[in-house]
Formats: sequence, structure tokens, C-alpha cells
Amino acid sequence: MMSDETSRFDILFEPVRIGPVIAPNRFYQVPHCNGMGHRHPLAHAKMREVKAEGGWGVVCTEEVEIHPSSEFSPYIEGRLWDDGDIPALACMTEAVKRHGALAGIELAHTGLSAANLWSREIPLSPSGGPVRDYYPISTRAMDKADIADLRRWHRAAALRAKKAGFDIVYVYAGHDLGLPMHFLSRSLNSRTDEYGGSLENRARLLKELIEDTKDAVGDTCAVAVRLSIDQLLGPEGITAEGEGREVIALLAELPDLWDVCLASWSNDSMTARFAEEGFQEPYAQVVKALTSKPVVGVGRFTSPDAMVSQVRRGVLDLIGAARPSIADPFLPAKIREGRFDAIRECIGCNICVSGDTTLVPIRCTQNPTMGEEWRRGWHPERIPALGRTERVLILGAGPAGLEAARALAQRGCEVVLADAAAEAGGRAAKEARLPGLSTWKRVADHRLQAILPDPKVSLYLESRMEAEDVAGFDCDAVVVATGSTWRRDGMGRAARRGISGLERFALFTPDDVMAGRPPEGPVLVYDDDHYYMAGVLAELLAGRGLAVTYATPASVVSAFTDYTLEQAKIQARLIRLGVQVRCGVALADGRLGCVHGGPAAAVEAPNLLLVTARDPDDALYRALIALPDGRRLERIGDALAPGTIAAAVYSGHRLAREWDMPAEERFSFKRERVSLEGW
Ligand code: ADP
Ligand code: SF4
Repeated sequence: MMSDETSRFDILFEPVRIGPVIAPNRFYQVPHCNGMGHRHPLAHAKMREVKAEGGWGVVCTEEVEIHPSSEFSPYIEGRLWDDGDIPALACMTEAVKRHGALAGIELAHTGLSAANLWSREIPLSPSGGPVRDYYPISTRAMDKADIADLRRWHRAAALRAKKAGFDIVYVYAGHDLGLPMHFLSRSLNSRTDEYGGSLENRARLLKELIEDTKDAVGDTCAVAVRLSIDQLLGPEGITAEGEGREVIALLAELPDLWDVCLASWSNDSMTARFAEEGFQEPYAQVVKALTSKPVVGVGRFTSPDAMVSQVRRGVLDLIGAARPSIADPFLPAKIREGRFDAIRECIGCNICVSGDTTLVPIRCTQNPTMGEEWRRGWHPERIPALGRTERVLILGAGPAGLEAARALAQRGCEVVLADAAAEAGGRAAKEARLPGLSTWKRVADHRLQAILPDPKVSLYLESRMEAEDVAGFDCDAVVVATGSTWRRDGMGRAARRGISGLERFALFTPDDVMAGRPPEGPVLVYDDDHYYMAGVLAELLAGRGLAVTYATPASVVSAFTDYTLEQAKIQARLIRLGVQVRCGVALADGRLGCVHGGPAAAVEAPNLLLVTARDPDDALYRALIALPDGRRLERIGDALAPGTIAAAVYSGHRLAREWDMPAEERFSFKRERVSLEGW
């Protein structure tokens, strides 16, 4: 029998009819990219299967190319050009349906957003003009024959999707990527025929594609539409109060399901720095008010109460999630079983997106098994027991140490975890106090929730350990997870041997600021790290009223964050805060000079905050190597090589997973090799 605590979430487990199919519950994994796609179909199928096993009632693909005239290279998405592509996707439907979930496919033609670098077909668009990215490639304005072709291709792809076993087939007008969205857009569509001009005309292609898809597969498959209801461009673009609402009203009852999203992708998948959980509620509400069809909406939902509230208040029918399903594929199962403390909450960092945008399989800060389900056989909830009890001392309770402790205890080890600080969490706890990063705390919280009640784990805070303390400690193995320290000499990518002339400044590093010793006057924040730290600190100090200059040798602010969809937002925020932004400049001898040449100008600020690189804190490790006591000694996380929090969690997890694996075997993972058919 369910307790009151769990029964209040019953509503989330009600089945929902979507056209001719029935979703077993309201948990809906919306389409999301993953860097696997057509290149790694088995890895892709397994990753999706784990979500179905974890209770997601609907599990969708990412964008799936329907034709060589819309080919997404260099990005790796799904592909369904001809019947030969069916088996790779059928792996996924079979795997997902094994667990009673519905499988959805996002058929996509992305018009001017696809440069067709691989197929070399001329890209198509409503009215011509260059492709979206900076490639020197123009699109071709579609004539009536092209539109007829497109409809035929889409219809054929829908039939193939049905053959592959999909239950839900999408017409994609999402983000600023789907071709029907390009037709809707006044700035991209200047046609004078029945596909241009009035909104009804601009929506004609979308309407025809929905009708075609229903006609082709609607007898057994639900037809879903993913539409960007707002481009967040104000009156220049489509808005929820304006044409977004009007399109929905026009087509309200035509599809079997509305999947609400925003354009562009960086607005739809905003990080925690820029949007709160549930931020898309007003947009879903607009759609829900205009249709009787089920509505799926997203908003980085991780709180079961927020989910129930959205359904009860009639904001949406299905809890859409990409990132929360990545961070915790077992989120629905945990809610159903009332295991709320076990939920691994997404932190909204978009490291998952960076897999796709750097053209490699997905990874996740919170879920180190994401992307490893098939190639390493990792399951997010299960790790085989070791079959023996070892006593392991872990030094450092940051993301790496905490995850190693959690996973080793799960395998049956007895773990003693010691940290010098008064609070567990290492950098995740410290950085969580910086603007926009409070969710980082969840990295520590999730692991603490697992280990604190576990009698096999003892956590000692305010316990700095030196080599002599370790020497006398009764254990079988020692794991060093002591983290890293920001450098004070300016060494980074631009100045591999450090920066000259630093003695003229009062010097600060992020460690000083986080330890409560920030600069108090005008400051130059020098970023040769290129991830979030320098931008966040510039924001913090400008917010305190300091005169802040941000300078970087890169051509944009926080360059790596382009991969996490944040770059433009960060740069705009700094400018709005009055930060003087200087890109493409390097610091030497107290002067900033253009990295491409020309005169350098003296820096006037007396304070310099260096955000360049970190050094591993590995002194303890080196001291322990020198102790010939025969115990196993390991080093993980930033103490091994400073990197992202995701890398530290992965490092801790991997150590535990591979604890009993011969060293040589640890390098290998299963690969999907190219077929040599045709040679
Ligand atoms: P990672 O990201 O690799 O987990 P962090 O820097 O987040 O690294 O965490 C390292 C943790 O190690 C910090 O909480 C720090 O207090 C702790 N630490 C560093 N040196 C020692 C030590 N000698 N004894 C115990 N704890 C230590
Ligand atoms: Fe969430 Fe970050 Fe994991 Fe993506 S990588 S799912 S944003 S925790």
C-alpha cells in the first residue's frame, strides 16, 4: 500500500492518451541530442533503454535527419534517410518498449540550419540567403516542386519510423532549427506565394506536414509537434503573446500532442545561471489554454512537488525532461517508490550539451554513467558487489572523493572519508556560494544523502591528514582526492611559463575570493581559463560596485561556454553590469596588448584577479608514494588533473567501478566499428 507521502504523486503515474497510443505515465523524456546518434546506434539504444527502465513513460530520440538535403554534420544526430537506417533505430524502439515505454522519434528537416557539409547538397530555405553558421554556403529558395519533395520525404520518413517501431512521430518546428520554423519566421520568409505573407500562409508548410504525417502513420502512431512558441527576441521574432499563440490557435486540434519549446536552443536549455526550475511555465500555459490535446512542457524539473503542481494547475499534461532524465534516468521510479532522497538532481550546468557540441558522446556532471551504459556496461543504479570487504581511506570530500566513497560503499567497502574543511563538498560547496551556481551544491548533497545513513561510511570533517597520520591509519587502501589550487603566476594557455610583471599588482586568485578575501577596489579579471569562473567572479565583483575590467586572450568572454550554450548570455550580462570587456588581449609587464600585434596599454587597476590554471594539490600523494607500506594508493579528481566537476565525479566513480579490474583492461571500452561492407 502506498503511504500518503507517495500517493500524493499518484497523479504523475496516470496514463495519458496521445492520439492512438497511451503513455503509461506522465514522465516524458523529450527529444535531446547526445553526440551518439547515427554514429553510435547501440550506445544510443542502451542509453535510452536505461531511461525506460527507470520509469520514463515516453522516451524520444534526438533530431533525426529525414533526407540528405538536411544533414547535420559535423553534429551527430539520428538519421533515417532510407530503409537501411531502420535497423539502427529499431534497436532503440525494441529496447525502450521492453520496459513498457513508448518510443518517440523527432523527424527533422532543418533547412538553413544544416550546411550539408557531408552530403554537399545545396541547403534549402524559404527565401534563400546564407546558412545559419559561418560557412561560406548559401541556401536555395524552395520552389513549389521543392516543397512537394519535402512533403514526400517527410511522409516517407514517417513510414520508415513506423516500420522501426516508433509510437510517436514528430513534426519538428522547434528552436530556430526546424524548417517549418523558418517558414513561420518573418525575418527568414519573404515569399509572396501562399507560403509567405500572412501567418496562415507562413504556417501552411507546418500544417501540411502534420496532415501528411497523420495520413501516413496516424492510424497507429501519435503525431507530435514541437514548436517554438517564443524566440525571446521581442517584437522582432515570434512571441508567446503574438504569433506563437496564433499558430497554436490555428492548428490547435491538428496534432495529437504539443511539445512546447523556445527558440533558440540556448533559450530552451538555459543553464541554472540564467533560469530557475520551471521557468517555461508561462509558455506551456499559453499552449494548454488553446488546445484539448495533451501538452508536454519542460523546465529542468527535479522536484516531484513542482511536477504535481504543474499538472494539477493545468499548466501541462506531461512532465517533459531532457536534462533531469540525463542526471537521473531513474527519477520516475524513485518518485514512485518514495525514495526522494535518492534523486540525483540536475544542476543545470549543460556539460551534457557540451558532449554534443564537441562531437562526442554525452556526459553528465551528476550522472557519471551517462554515455557509458553500453560501451562500459555501467548502470546508473547498480554496481556489482566486490565480494570482499576492504577498508578504504579517502582523503578529500570534494566531488571526486564523495563519489568514490559513495560508489565504493555501494560495492561493499568500508570507507573512511576525511576532509580538512568544516563542510563536505570541496569546490562544489565553495563555488555554490558564487552568483548563479547554487545548484552546484547538489553534487555534494546527493552523495552525502547516500553515505551519511550508510554505516559502512564514516565522514570526518575538520580533519586535515598529513602523511604521518595516514601512515598510522588502519586501512587496505588510500585514495587521495585533495583537489587543486588556482595558480598565482599567470600560467595558462597564453603564457605557458607565467606572466611577467605581476609584482606591480595586488594579486588575487579565485581561491582568495572564495575564502572571503576579495579585491576591494578597481580590478582586472584576467581569464586564461575560459570556462565559467572568471565570468562569474567578474559578475560578483561588479555586482558589489567595483570597477571591473574583464580581459582574455580569447576572442570572446568565457570561450568554452559556447559549448554549454551560455557564452552569449554571459558576455551580455557582463556588459549590462558595466564590466569593461576586452577580448583578444594578453597580459605582460603590466600591459594589455592585442594577441595579434599592435601597441599595448598599461593596466590602471591596482588589483589583478588571475583566473588562468590550477595545479593539483598532490603533495600528500607524493609523500605517501614515498611510504613503502605496501598499501594500495590511488589519486583521483583534481588532485590527479584539474578539470570540470563532471570529470572529478567521473574519476571517483571510475575508480570504484574498476577497483577490481586489472590495470591494462581499464583503457578499453566497447566500440561500434565502421562496417567494411562494400570493400
Ligand atoms: P575534486 O574536485 O577532485 O573532488 P575538490 O577541490 O573539490 O577536488 O576537493 C578536495 C577536498 O580535499 C577539499 O574539500 C579539501 O578540503 C580536501 N583536502 C585537501 N587536502 C586535504 C588533506 N590533506 N586532508 C584532508 N582533506 C584535504
Ligand atoms: Fe544536468 Fe549538468 Fe547533467 Fe546536464 S550535465 S543533465 S545540466 S547535471
